[in-house]
Amino acid sequence: MLRTHTCGELRLNDTGKTVTLSGWVQRIRDKGGLIWIDLRDRYGITQLLLEEGRSPAELIADARKLGREFVIQARGKVIERVSKNPKMATGDIEIDLAEITVLNRSKTPPFTIENETDGGEELRMKYRYLDLRRNPLKESLLLRHKLSLETRKYLDNQEFVEIETPYLIKSTPEGARDFVVPSRMNPGEFYALPQSPQTFKQLLMVAGYDRYYQLVKCFRDEDLRADRQPEFTQIDCEMSFVEQEDILNTFEGLIRYLFKEIKGLELPAFPRLPFDEAMRLYGSDKPDIRFGMTFVELNDVAQGKGFKVFDDAELVVGINAPGCAGYSRKQLDKLTDFVKRPQVGAKGLVYVKYNEDGSFKSSVDKFFDAEALKSWAGKFEAKPGDLMLILSGDADAVRRQLNELRLEMGTRLGLRDPQNYKALWVVDFPLLEWNEDDQRYHAMHHPFTSPKPEDLDLLETDPGKVHANAYDLVINGVEIGGGSIRIHDRELQKRMFKALGFSEEAAQEQFGFLMNAFEYGAPPHGGIAFGFDRLAAMFAGKDSIRDFIAFPKNNNGRDVMIDSPSVISPEQLDELGLKVVKKREK
Ligand code: ASP
Repeated sequence: MLRTHTCGELRLNDTGKTVTLSGWVQRIRDKGGLIWIDLRDRYGITQLLLEEGRSPAELIADARKLGREFVIQARGKVIERVSKNPKMATGDIEIDLAEITVLNRSKTPPFTIENETDGGEELRMKYRYLDLRRNPLKESLLLRHKLSLETRKYLDNQEFVEIETPYLIKSTPEGARDFVVPSRMNPGEFYALPQSPQTFKQLLMVAGYDRYYQLVKCFRDEDLRADRQPEFTQIDCEMSFVEQEDILNTFEGLIRYLFKEIKGLELPAFPRLPFDEAMRLYGSDKPDIRFGMTFVELNDVAQGKGFKVFDDAELVVGINAPGCAGYSRKQLDKLTDFVKRPQVGAKGLVYVKYNEDGSFKSSVDKFFDAEALKSWAGKFEAKPGDLMLILSGDADAVRRQLNELRLEMGTRLGLRDPQNYKALWVVDFPLLEWNEDDQRYHAMHHPFTSPKPEDLDLLETDPGKVHANAYDLVINGVEIGGGSIRIHDRELQKRMFKALGFSEEAAQEQFGFLMNAFEYGAPPHGGIAFGFDRLAAMFAGKDSIRDFIAFPKNNNGRDVMIDSPSVISPEQLDELGLKVVKKREK
């Protein structure tokens, strides 16, 4: 090997050894009489030393010709440093250089390869291999590796088998948009890349594999955001002969195991919150439970007092921000502006200050006297010094708006520490949701999710009321995973497709393979999938998943490093039986 040691491993008790290191030149400090070179590899940095008068003159001349990011091999003796650096693992020693070999030269990198860099996002994406040399990214990828290793360990211990499923599958109309791949051998026909291995893992259950998992790439052609990528990784799992409780326990076990092994944290048992409660208390199916400020409904005390805005509203609902009664006019205006932003969409904000002296000051003093406001405070369990913030309007919309305001207040009050992990299961999701555009029901999770047995009768009569055996794992307000108990009965699956507006022929054409399989002894089964990139980001306390993917796409779905997507040659198009109608201008 071109090295005896890595750049991260030499310590004081190695002094006296002659070693060979290989790595990249991070930095050269030339103080005339003394020259230091920081040599970096994946494992760390080791300082190399040259001293005028003592080191060979030729070697010093060679060292002066090195540039940043040159790849060199360095041989020398480990010596104790005169001024030690306690911040570096190798900070007690340095290498008294005897020989340098340049293994490869480097152009000056377009940005500095340090923990803090001067490179902009786009430039760093273009030179991703240079960005990946930086510590923060390296640590992200190592964390991801550790997570995948521990995930496999845990699941293997529980008798789960990792089985690969195909990437070239069939396009289906449910869910997000598919990425498609033209088939050369079948002109005019297309494969689709899987949005998830859902049907395959169910077929593996029919096949008797009982406990399946896969760390698997999934593809969804959706508009991108910071926490979304067109291709992403899931920890995809399925189990047979289980009920919902078994799945929740097994995978709560996985998540707690990962927190314990990787972060040394013992998370308490995850509370379970029915979907309806989550909406009522937090206005969100992924509530951030690191802080309280749950919703309080005020219809009974706020309506019928002549304030038209409240009287006309379906719902009057608010939160209590502790210790915020001192907010200035300006601060309150800012909050009002916040809820009025188009992304939030409220018409206005009502506030009630519960002053330290026990008096009240509100934006609706004209309609409500101190006694009325006191009764509100009672509902909020507010204390003197608190600030009540109230919205009103259409129930669904107003809950969504208040959720935004609650999160904003949580952030302002410093209650959303990314390293304070609060997990919960949201359970009992509705099976279906009405889609205005299509004028039909869509599956809230996916069409294979089983209705709750007690709601089965409603499937034809009042489909919107049917609850599902579906669950999400939410940590710090982020959906980390979701799954369901599946339908394993052909007849019920047929009813479900009907409720989704499929004709019998369409259902057979799209999903016949699954319904046919259900006729050959399908066991009761269910499963879950976790967003692996997101989980990794969350373990690092980060929002964006991009740094946890070695080679991600940018916001336009492009890989700017390899410049993809790209046009293909007329010959290739021809062979595929395709014609480009119009290429979009870049
Ligand atoms: N396939 C589902 C998804 O990707 C997860 C599941 O139901 O297991 O969301």
